[in-house]
Amino acid sequence: MMLANPDYLRLRGSYLFSTVAQKTRAYTEAHPEAEIIRLGIGDVTQPLPPAVIEALHKAVEEQAHAETFRGYAPDLGYPFLRHAMAENDYRARDCQIEDDEIFLSDGAKSDSANIQEIFAADSRIAVTDPVYPVYVDSNVMAGRTGTYREETGTWSRVTYLPCTAENGFVPALPAEGPDEAPDLIYLCFPNNPTGTTITKAQLQEWVDYANRTGAVILFDSAYEAYISEPDVPHTIYECEGARTCAIELRSFSKNAGFTGLRLGAVVIPKELKDKNGQALHPLWARRHGTKYNGAPYIVQRAGEAVYTPEGKAQVRALVDGYMKNARFIRESLAGMGYEVYGGVNSPYIWLRTSGEMTSWEFFDRLLEGAQVVGTPGSGFGPRGEHYFRLTAFGTYEKSVEAMERIRRL
Ligand SMILES: *Cc1c(COP(=O)(O)O)cnc(C)c1O
Repeated sequence: MMLANPDYLRLRGSYLFSTVAQKTRAYTEAHPEAEIIRLGIGDVTQPLPPAVIEALHKAVEEQAHAETFRGYAPDLGYPFLRHAMAENDYRARDCQIEDDEIFLSDGAKSDSANIQEIFAADSRIAVTDPVYPVYVDSNVMAGRTGTYREETGTWSRVTYLPCTAENGFVPALPAEGPDEAPDLIYLCFPNNPTGTTITKAQLQEWVDYANRTGAVILFDSAYEAYISEPDVPHTIYECEGARTCAIELRSFSKNAGFTGLRLGAVVIPKELKDKNGQALHPLWARRHGTKYNGAPYIVQRAGEAVYTPEGKAQVRALVDGYMKNARFIRESLAGMGYEVYGGVNSPYIWLRTSGEMTSWEFFDRLLEGAQVVGTPGSGFGPRGEHYFRLTAFGTYEKSVEAMERIRRL
């Protein structure tokens, strides 16, 4: 395969997590007795909900009998799960999304990386800074780059929208001129890595902006289940006019623990068009049908179980468990005098490093002084410098132990 842009080898995302792993390995080799607490990676730790396990067993058993055996799944997803999602995630919230506007997939990472394929090669993109690295990297791999700035790790053809304590981690709207306005805008709220949110009124401004300029918003709602405050939107389609400017990415990973099972979805309303007037729904259907053979039947039945009354209650309990950790971490750090963000509507806590320490200096200090592994904010973008991400995906006991060790630092 021809790589559109071999510069992709310099992308920061892979660099971030491999450096974290390398440094942690070096430390444990030098200190084999050390008990490391990992609050770095964004992966769940609790087992799958019982309703999901039951659905998996049943679907597996069906495969042993000719009458119930399933071969290839429909490319775009089985109607039973598209319907359950449309009903529960959208129509129950008064958002008009049809079953066939939901395209099932193996997760939001691949969807967020693949979705750029249906946009014009010369599209300008905008991302927040800090950012989930996949959004930038996938566009860079497709050649939407310009020049690379070594000192900041940014690309000239990508507009970076600063998210800082000063703006409450909600980016300002970009310029509107025809030669400046981005064509694609990636927004993720509740956010990874900052754990912060956008209010419905603030998101409405983005929707209005996109409808004025013809931009398309790619809204990543992977952390929707963690929302606890009433003015935080659970989907972008709660905003008026979102059907003509927004695509939403959904995932079963962080709510129901499907990080290993793999299941996600892209929502594309039928009236949504790109800047050239091209309808995007048929384009994604074509792309998906050409390059993807459907999420496994067994996994889609497991996804359906998430929407049963038992499934909903069990997912709620999982999320509540992680949020108990988040609250504890957040309050402990605040009590120690750290400036902390997130952790209220998300499993991520974003803290300002002490003094003028860089994110990596703080990483070393936590690893060496407390044997706690977190993620340096600078790995998510230049505006992440002097910040640090901790996750609530550990156990409560480990979260408590980690905070005690940090307190003793
Ligand atoms: C974890 C995560 C996802 C989910 O990815 P999956 O591929 O569905 O597991 C999507 N977006 C963000 C920002 C994430 O942090």
